[in-house]
Amino acid sequence: MPVTETTPPVIEIRDLHKAYGALEVLKGVDMVAEKGEVVSLIGSSGSGKSTLLRCANLLEDSQQGEIRFEGEPVLWHGTGLGRRPGDHKQLIRIRTNLSMVFQQFNLWAHMTILENVIEAPVTVLKRDRHEAEALGRELLAKVGIGDKCDAYPAQLSGGQQQRAAIARALAMEPKALLFDEPTSALDPELEQEVVKVIKALAQEGRTMLLVTHDMRLAADVSDHVVFLHQGKIEEEGPPESLFGNPQTERLQQFLSHSQ
Ligand code: ADP
Ligand code: MG
Repeated sequence: MPVTETTPPVIEIRDLHKAYGALEVLKGVDMVAEKGEVVSLIGSSGSGKSTLLRCANLLEDSQQGEIRFEGEPVLWHGTGLGRRPGDHKQLIRIRTNLSMVFQQFNLWAHMTILENVIEAPVTVLKRDRHEAEALGRELLAKVGIGDKCDAYPAQLSGGQQQRAAIARALAMEPKALLFDEPTSALDPELEQEVVKVIKALAQEGRTMLLVTHDMRLAADVSDHVVFLHQGKIEEEGPPESLFGNPQTERLQQFLSHSQ
């Protein structure tokens, strides 16, 4: 479907506030990912990047603000997530549609790679097991580990495990992929295998939110880059201006330390 002005953003976050007890982590953050857009989130450790991603797919409750998924409000404050009647269905819908890839892969150690990939489609989406397996094999081939279907996570390199985790996220047929530092746990040579997959997904026109320490990756794949500093957006824009002509001293400093 072509993107038109009437297509609502896949994810829209407005004035989001999140605190852990007295610690204010997000202090009024706005972020929008249009369909087909790659938005990267950069910033120092502790600036709130993971918290923002976790709030976006409702893994975390928040105190104030608005989150919309395809134009529809999905957030209620004060009740605790999943505690209102009907919330549980909503949570599942959001989490399956905004599929997350974590730094530490989080594969289930006691399951084969293919079982890891088909588990949620079969149990949560109630997909037919044979169809889920066929799609799972296809996705594992797509990320370059089609020969690892029957292996266990411990038998794979970190780069292979992360690619399996990406296949698992894709198996939910999500509307957007959320990556939280997907290459940080990897040795540089394995990092590139995963970078290649992320670039291919960006080229396919997938909607993605990408938290990364890899400025080259962010510059290569992003339509929009957001620099978070102490829970606030300090600067944002297209990668060319953010990386090529940073305006704020904080971003200039951050970039000088991360290159
Ligand atoms: P980033 O991903 O940018 O490194 P995080 O979102 O993980 O930052 O963390 C932002 C801040 O929130 C940090 O100060 C961190 O210690 C704190 N924090 C994160 N998760 C929790 C939690 N579950 N409980 C309390 N504090 C947390
Ligand atoms: Mg983080």
